[in-house]
This record gives sequence, structure tokens and C-alpha cells, in this order.
Amino acid sequence: MRQLVTVRTIAEVSPIEGADAIEKVRVDGWWCVTKKGEFKEGSKCLYFEVDSLLPPIPQFSFLEGRGRSKMIYEGKDIEGYRLRTVKLKGQISQGLCLPMSMFDDALLLEAATGQDLSSVLGVIKYEAPIPAGLGGEVKGVFPSFIPKTDEERVQNLPDIVSLHANEFFTVTEKLDGTSATFYKHDGAFGVCGRNWEYKDTVANVYWRVAKAMNLESKLPDYMAIQCEIIGEGIQGNPYKIKGHQARCFYVFSTDTGEYLSSAMAIEFCQMHNLQMVPVIMRDFCLVKGMGTNCVTIDDLLNMANRKSVLNPNTNAEGLVFRLNDLGGSSKVSFKAISNNYLLKHE
Ligand code: ATP
Ligand code: MN
Repeated sequence: MRQLVTVRTIAEVSPIEGADAIEKVRVDGWWCVTKKGEFKEGSKCLYFEVDSLLPPIPQFSFLEGRGRSKMIYEGKDIEGYRLRTVKLKGQISQGLCLPMSMFDDALLLEAATGQDLSSVLGVIKYEAPIPAGLGGEVKGVFPSFIPKTDEERVQNLPDIVSLHANEFFTVTEKLDGTSATFYKHDGAFGVCGRNWEYKDTVANVYWRVAKAMNLESKLPDYMAIQCEIIGEGIQGNPYKIKGHQARCFYVFSTDTGEYLSSAMAIEFCQMHNLQMVPVIMRDFCLVKGMGTNCVTIDDLLNMANRKSVLNPNTNAEGLVFRLNDLGGSSKVSFKAISNNYLLKHE
């Protein structure tokens, strides 16, 4: 679950060239434009991440000018202010930093740093409506013996370079499609989306792809592949490909309960004639050196501003970094979403 609203500490305040009334502050790896003088380095703030849908309460009324967004949440129509990635005076601004003093809610003021406060404030995650045809008849919940797919945003991992200093990562292109998990377990073949396992019906895109790609016969027993399905009708098909493709990013053994390492997953896909997401680099080093030699979160975000390997006319959504470990029941990985992509797509 994403923590959309948290108490955080202002790590840095710095001017924006050519701007008098505003400046930028950094919370963890996020840059956010604020009123000049509102924060000092070290002050606490309430930080709202991008994709938050803020309720129309007085504290947020200054956002009214940007217009409201609508969505259906738990069956109800909801309206609110959606936080997108924006550029102000040439500076990327993501999320919203507000002084603690704007809120007198006791719960808030007692909150520990990092605790998620979205439900206290009625903030939910904005989700675009699910396109028709992507659902399908649900067979059951996502299998408990396979981890769900998800990636943390690098901006929320301010210590990543220290924690994995000088360690090597496999970098893949993050494709903008829909998450699919295909598995064979004890002879049974299963097809799942992000949160559900699906019944084999003609209308279901996950099953159609599985059949078109012969996944049931390609997958050895007790193996699962986690893929992004891209193509027509999915997220606007930015790659402009015909039909659909499932591109694998993780391989998991349902027998041992462990992920294959990146290197083994690459071999596995070659051996079983499965397509992977584009592999950009197999040995990217999180260099922790002095000064300019040190990889920063901003460097990783800049790396993500690139064209897609699948279609050079479109921006990549971003990159996913995974530590080159030996495989295991957990992995270290994170995503760097391209800010260029966000600015264009939102
Ligand atoms: P958020 O967490 O930002 O609210 P989200 O949970 O929908 O959004 P995504 O931004 O879609 O997450 O990022 C995680 C998803 O990225 C994974 O579930 C996976 O389906 C997809 N993905 C696409 N390409 C890759 C890749 N190369 N490696 C790993 N995951 C990838
Ligand atoms: Mn997520």
C-alpha cells in the first residue's frame, strides 16, 4: 500500500532561478515547489504524494483553481483535487508540502514520522477508470504462494545508495501496460492480473495472451512468470504495437518460494522462448563516492528520461532497478518513473 500522506522532514530548501515568490524543497527524494519562506531545512511538514486525491475541505481550497477530478471509489462518486506532476518556472514539482500548523487534528499532530495519514484526512489514491475488457470473470484471489507485483518509487528510498553502495543492479525498462502473473503449480496453470486470478473466458485479455503465446506449454511446472501485458487497448498503447505481448520481468519458483536472480531470469526466458521487458543494463553500479561521483536519486530519475526501446518515438515510462543478488524469497528493487513521461501523460 502506498503511503500517500505522511509527516516528513524538509531535507533541503533551495531557490528557483528566476522566481521570487516560490522556492523548492526536498523531502526524501521528492522535489516540491512551495511558497518562499514557508519551510526551513529540518522543519516537519505534511507531505502528500503525487496521485493523491484530496477531499474538498477548506485546507485544500487553494487548489480549487486547478479544477476537480472525479472518480468512483468504493461504489461512490468522489470529487477532489488530484495531485499531478507539474512544472513551475522550469522546476518539477511533485506532491504537496504543507505546514503542520494548517491542521489542528489531534491525530495528525501525534502522528509519528512516516505514518500514513491518508484515512485521517480522507485522501485516497486517484486511479483512472479501468478500461473495458481488462477485467474478466474472477476465479479467486491472487494466489498466496506468489508475491504480488509492485515497485516502490525511488524518491521514497533516500538511503538506497548508502544501503547498496557500490552494488550492481539490473536495469529494465518499465513498460506501461497491465500486470499479469502466469503460473504452473502442481500441474495446474493459472492466469492472474494485479490482484485476482481469472477464469478462462474468451473476453479475458490475460487468458487470450496466455493462449496466443502458448504459455501453458512453455512454462515448466512450479514456475511463475510476472509480466507486463502491453498492446492495443492497454494504457493507450504508447508503443503502437499490434495485438498484445506479455513481457516478463520476474521469474518465481512456486516450489522453493524464491525469485530467480536477474541473470537466471534472463536465461530462463531465453531457454523457454519468452520475451522479456527490455534489459537496459545488467551491471549498473550504485556508486557511492565523494561529491560528483556519487549516484543520487536525481541521477536515477534523469536516467529514466529516455525513449522507449520498443518505440523510439515515445518516452519510456521509466526504469526498474533490481539488485543483482543470487535470487531468494525477497528482492531489492525500485522504480524511477520518468518525469518527462509524467508531464506528458498527466
Ligand atoms: P503506484 O505504486 O505508483 O501507485 P502502481 O502500484 O500501479 O502505481 P506501477 O507504477 O504500475 O505501480 O509500478 C509497478 C508495476 O510496474 C508492477 O506491478 C509491474 O506490473 C509493472 N512493470 C512494468 N515494467 C516493469 C519492469 N520492467 N519491472 C518490474 N515491474 C514492471
Ligand atoms: Mn504500487
